[in-house]
Amino acid sequence: MSWKRGLAFFFILAVLAAFPYGPLFAWSPVHPGYTKLNFKRADVLYPADRPLDPAYSNVDRYVALAESFHNLRCSKKITVVACRDWNDCLRFAAPFLGTQRPVGVTIPTGTVIFLTPYIYGGWDAGGVLRHELSHATLNQNRSLLSVWRLLKQPWFSEGVAGVMAGMGTTAPGRKLVALPAPNFIAAARHEDLWPSFDAAQQKDWRFSYTAWEFFWVRQIQLRGKEAFLKFESACTSEPEKCRADFANIYGMGLRQAVEAYQDDLRSGRFVPADQTASTP
Ligand SMILES: [Zn+2]
Repeated sequence: MSWKRGLAFFFILAVLAAFPYGPLFAWSPVHPGYTKLNFKRADVLYPADRPLDPAYSNVDRYVALAESFHNLRCSKKITVVACRDWNDCLRFAAPFLGTQRPVGVTIPTGTVIFLTPYIYGGWDAGGVLRHELSHATLNQNRSLLSVWRLLKQPWFSEGVAGVMAGMGTTAPGRKLVALPAPNFIAAARHEDLWPSFDAAQQKDWRFSYTAWEFFWVRQIQLRGKEAFLKFESACTSEPEKCRADFANIYGMGLRQAVEAYQDDLRSGRFVPADQTASTP
């Protein structure tokens, strides 16, 4: 029976190794090579050999901001992992990244946020944190099935995360995921916005992301926070009905609302504020 004991020993070793060096890194009590910063609402794991981005020290304030924007409690403590390199990131977060290579990803339970090495390439860490904390707050208040279904409605989930990302000052020399407002307005003059809302697949992801963000800025401006929260609650509880819920709550179809928003952008009735300190 010694081969069985050998197998059990090997299995235990593999599980233990998965903690500090593998997919359980975020949950591990030890984090070799990383510095752990403890805040009230979140812990931040940061590569020990990298200069710390001051944005992380605002994490408690950003969680509170997400709670007040979404009118939801983010009751579980969050772990933010800033990966040192892609090697680490793929070992820690491969199942959550799939084939995508974003700047950040929030796991479906809303308790862990992974930031990929793109974060060191000029993106505004505060903006990315606010974006992911919007996902985390919504995810913590929904079923895993609803989180999965909402992936097909990025015009809502990514749009509102974008609104959160824009709620702060961009660090000097850093850029937000959204295009600078003047560039977007210029592009929206000749580019139709509806295709970005019509399907989950995007031909220009950054353009669509900006279109969704400013769409929600505009809806909240026109129809207020109460209608927004009503829609948020309906859409997140049954994501397959998001479009029908939109028509019910806003009194017009999504397509009609997107066309009105595009008209307002083209005529200058709606000029989104530029949140970027610098042009990427
Ligand atoms: Zn997102």
